[in-house]
Amino acid sequence: MSSNDSDYKIVMIGDSGVGKTNLMMRFIRNSFSLEPKSTLGIEFATTNIKFDGKIIKAQIWDTAGHERHRDLPNAYYHGAVGALLVYDISQPSTFKNVGRWLTDLRKHANPDVVMTLVGNKSDLGHTRAVPTEEAKRFASENGLSFIETSALDAINVEFSFQSTLADSDQNDY
Ligand code: GDP
Repeated sequence: MSSNDSDYKIVMIGDSGVGKTNLMMRFIRNSFSLEPKSTLGIEFATTNIKFDGKIIKAQIWDTAGHERHRDLPNAYYHGAVGALLVYDISQPSTFKNVGRWLTDLRKHANPDVVMTLVGNKSDLGHTRAVPTEEAKRFASENGLSFIETSALDAINVEFSFQSTLADSDQNDY
């Protein structure tokens, strides 16, 4: 697959299993799958988004399973204007690793990249392991926006992508 440089590229990062693919699929196709991915998935999908009276083309990149080996290829970050750094609110280890993902992102992405910390699986409130306040604090200390989402219940998914794109747009790419 090749990418188009004029599109708004958003990358999904975060540990395996946090729901990156499902967030993307919910956003692009309004679909959800209960099955974990069995094989390497697609690399990116595009969608037209309307905001501020104009239509922009967003290109959402999924890690396609590479994150299991920790290092994502440099090309993954290349040209990204926004990043959704996802953890699972019911799995503390995925929140602990957010710092490492952030370091990776800062090392490889454009310095102006707009970053949103996304606490996914908010529908699993009964098994919550990462307090909202703790994540909020981490986000503000590190200059990230923050939102909790549920790809399963379609809560805040559209907003998380839209607001990342809107902030990227303000950076005037
Ligand atoms: P990825 O490895 O980060 O791309 O994660 P996936 O999108 O493949 O999701 C991993 C697993 O978590 C799958 O079994 C999904 O069905 C499940 N999952 C994803 N998002 C949610 C969510 O918002 N709520 C719940 N309860 N499960 C989710």
